[in-house]
Amino acid sequence: MSTLNKTSFASTLPLLLNIVQQFLLLPIWLLLAVLVWLEVLALTIFFYLKNSFGPRPGEALCFASCLGWNRRSGAISKVMLGVFSGCSQLCASFEKLGWKTVSFDNDLNKADDSLSDDCFFDLLRGIYELCFGAVRLRIPCRTWSIASNPLLRNHKHLVDGFPDLSRSERSLVSEGNELLRRSLFIIRLAAWNGIMVILENPNGSLLWAHPEVLCCLQDYNFAKAYVEYCMYGRPYKKPTAIAATFPQIKHVECLCSGDHLHVTLKGKSALGDWLTAGSASYTLEICDIWSSCVVRGFSCHTDVAATLPLFLTMIPV
Ligand SMILES: [Zn+2]
Repeated sequence: MSTLNKTSFASTLPLLLNIVQQFLLLPIWLLLAVLVWLEVLALTIFFYLKNSFGPRPGEALCFASCLGWNRRSGAISKVMLGVFSGCSQLCASFEKLGWKTVSFDNDLNKADDSLSDDCFFDLLRGIYELCFGAVRLRIPCRTWSIASNPLLRNHKHLVDGFPDLSRSERSLVSEGNELLRRSLFIIRLAAWNGIMVILENPNGSLLWAHPEVLCCLQDYNFAKAYVEYCMYGRPYKKPTAIAATFPQIKHVECLCSGDHLHVTLKGKSALGDWLTAGSASYTLEICDIWSSCVVRGFSCHTDVAATLPLFLTMIPV
């Protein structure tokens, strides 16, 4: 009997040792599993930020809490974020109404370069954390203009440009696409978050026909207004479309009365500057109308923003 017990113990000893060994290794396996999970999570977040056009309505942003972003409670800040739209006169107009303005552009290697990942992610974090009450974008229309020379796209070859572009032209198209993607991410995140959004581009810009732009405007129920700048004291017409998440944007709408002549914005001035570049600036009158329109929209809009359910950020996608 005793010999049988000894044999049985001897045969189970390796099994027991194996269990003890596995038990001791368990923390290491758990640590490895956590590291792999964190790596997958980081890659998923990175892929989302680098490839997505931004959140759709009702979509939960679990990545935001993973990144340590925290939505603020209380009143939304009276700060206007201008992306590609810095204008000192506009800042002054907003300041007169008690608002601050912050500008971001796409100047290469500058601190506010929206094509830099760090800068872009900071911008998204600021929007998520409700540091801004309104966001206004004037996406550069260089590669989207039907008047650009050379022409890089048309309605048939809208998203990727003409198939026979040179390497430098292809690079311009890619940059234009990335600027648009990042802009749409900003727009979608802001609209998702209940922040007012304003998007401005020439009326004839191919950007308005881009499927992702159309989808975004529809998803967040944008209102559209049209402006011709000759009615705001400019010598040129420059038909412009403005899309916004608030209906008060219609107050800026003003179309040509047809009782005057226009200067054509083509070629360069005597000083060698592109005439279209000068058209990017605003008159004081336009700035005052812009700022009052946004502030009027804000007073009606804050209630909407305040009702956005915070729990949306906690639900997995
Ligand atoms: Zn006119």
